Amino acid sequence: MRNASRLMSRIAIIGAGASGLAAAFQLSKEGFEVCVFEKSRGVSGRAASRSRNGCRYDHGANYLKPESNEVAELLFKALPHDDLCRIAGDISTFDRNGRISSGDPEQNAESKWTYRSGISTLGKLLIEAGNFTVSRETLISSLSREGTQWSLIDAEGKTKGPFDVLLLTPPAPQTVGLLVNTKADAPIIAEMVGVLEQVPYHSQFSVLLNFNANVALPNKAFALINSDREHQLAWLSDEGHKAGHVPQGETLLVAQMSPNWSAEHYDDSPASIISAAYQAVSSLLGDNLPTLHWSDSQRWRYAHPYAPAKIEDTAEAAEFGLFFAGDAFVGKGRVPGALKTGLAAARRITETF
Ligand SMILES: Cc1cc2nc3c(=O)[nH]c(=O)nc-3n(C[C@H](O)[C@H](O)[C@H](O)COP(=O)(O)OP(=O)(O)OC[C@H]3O[C@@H](n4cnc5c(N)ncnc54)[C@H](O)[C@@H]3O)c2cc1C
Repeated sequence: MRNASRLMSRIAIIGAGASGLAAAFQLSKEGFEVCVFEKSRGVSGRAASRSRNGCRYDHGANYLKPESNEVAELLFKALPHDDLCRIAGDISTFDRNGRISSGDPEQNAESKWTYRSGISTLGKLLIEAGNFTVSRETLISSLSREGTQWSLIDAEGKTKGPFDVLLLTPPAPQTVGLLVNTKADAPIIAEMVGVLEQVPYHSQFSVLLNFNANVALPNKAFALINSDREHQLAWLSDEGHKAGHVPQGETLLVAQMSPNWSAEHYDDSPASIISAAYQAVSSLLGDNLPTLHWSDSQRWRYAHPYAPAKIEDTAEAAEFGLFFAGDAFVGKGRVPGALKTGLAAARRITETF
């Protein structure tokens, strides 16, 4: 239950991804007044899904494994779980020469999950089960602190706030962008920039290839992952292994290009990215691909971090009502990891306020 001071505490969260929404869900349950600001129209961030031509597909994070009791509790107990579906099939591997092998039996023994309505359902469920507001299509472009309170300024110059607590959850480079646009008489801001600037992110293209025919991956696998990181494809999976995603008689493959290839081709047109993905998939599967029916693509500028920031290094910012969460503190792209950082931020805020 909330105490008297919590009644007064207003919390702003920037980012309606897994970390920001997990924090908002938890903090609203603790009795705080929470407002989430999200630049996109949709919610759930990189745990993203789209619909096209009767297919539902996950074009960002492809699946999740609970990985900890805390996340399992959230997914299977605290949130409705009737739409969760276990993904059938293993993950095999391929090397730089396209040689395919069966994957790691231990990893394959672990269940992989998404939602029938797409992985972005996670974000929607956190919003429905919590008690907080989400302002969509609201890009926060700068921050200011006066006295003990924070205000947020959006891209149209409108001020939001004031707030007692501010939780920042975008990918580290975007959080750095916000911090350098902060008006605050506090050296802690520059220190936090220093902490977050240490977190590098890979870019990555996801390409969706739809066929009006059945195309099975080798070994009846759900997915193939590149084991030596030397292939231009990093990941290839079949959305048809997820209940409710692809109509019968069709195939929808998700090809994620490697970070190196994606960086080299970052400014190429979607048509040329799709064509390169089609050729890479065709060659990996033995040049037997049918004609493409339709395709889609997404360029993820900040797809995955590959080194973490330490959350302990942000501890002093709590005195200023400033907190952080997101996969920058995991060091790799993982939805469960991001959820955990959001829940941990909620605990730190609850202990402080
Ligand atoms: C192609 C791809 C494949 C992946 N595969 C997997 C996988 O199979 N399994 C897995 O577990 N993970 C996977 N991941 C990683 C996973 O998606 C992320 O680690 C996780 O979703 C990150 O959540 P987050 O809350 O930290 O950040 P995000 O989801 O990025 O959320 C941050 C939010 O902040 C918003 N935002 C940013 N700046 C502002 C601003 N100034 N104002 C307002 N809003 C702002 C963004 O729009 C975004 O919604 C994958 C990621 C990608 C891109």
